[in-house]
Amino acid sequence: MNEKRLTRWTEEEMTCPRCGQRKKVRRFRVINSSEKPGIKEEILKNRIYFFECENCRLAAPLTYPSVYLDSKKKLAFLLSPEIEEESHELLKELGDFSGYKKRFVDNINDLKEKIMIAENRLDDRVIELVKIEYLRQMEKELKDDTLMNILFDYSGADMYLMVFFEKKGIGRIPLSHEFYRHTETQYADVLRTAVPSDFEKVDMEWAGNLVFNRS
Ligand SMILES: [Zn+2]
Repeated sequence: MNEKRLTRWTEEEMTCPRCGQRKKVRRFRVINSSEKPGIKEEILKNRIYFFECENCRLAAPLTYPSVYLDSKKKLAFLLSPEIEEESHELLKELGDFSGYKKRFVDNINDLKEKIMIAENRLDDRVIELVKIEYLRQMEKELKDDTLMNILFDYSGADMYLMVFFEKKGIGRIPLSHEFYRHTETQYADVLRTAVPSDFEKVDMEWAGNLVFNRS
């Protein structure tokens, strides 16, 4: 394994923004889940990319340029608040990722979602299209509330879409394999040519453009 692609971090002292307590926090530059199999769970359980204060119990996401790698599933996800010089340098340092699924995410929830989609061996492009299809059916709910986010989630063999509304709060919609496959078939022609560029952000906006440009 390329040495530069091994998991590495620096330890930094941070001050809790709420109570001022100081704490040492690991900042991961690279996370390689093939090298450290347990680390994926750590991310999903918010033990990484997260700040937790033992004193005042503040828990908040920590987003900084970092690359998540899975060489078995051929995944390279760049996490960064925005694509900035530091993230460009980091990618250059790690070298070529040909054959990898390369994605950009700007927050920890989207990173976790990409990991979970890959765990279920699903296509993230199709999942974003599935969200658009659900949105079309939720016209009534959308009229008197604001949709903040939709995220893929699963438990065992059951798949869900977690829907975050401003007023109604969080809802959980079951997602069947049939509906996933139906969407995949429905958009088969556009999916064939809609290949995201390297470290492109594949989200609902991306899928929306795809649907809009098709009709
Ligand atoms: Zn605190």
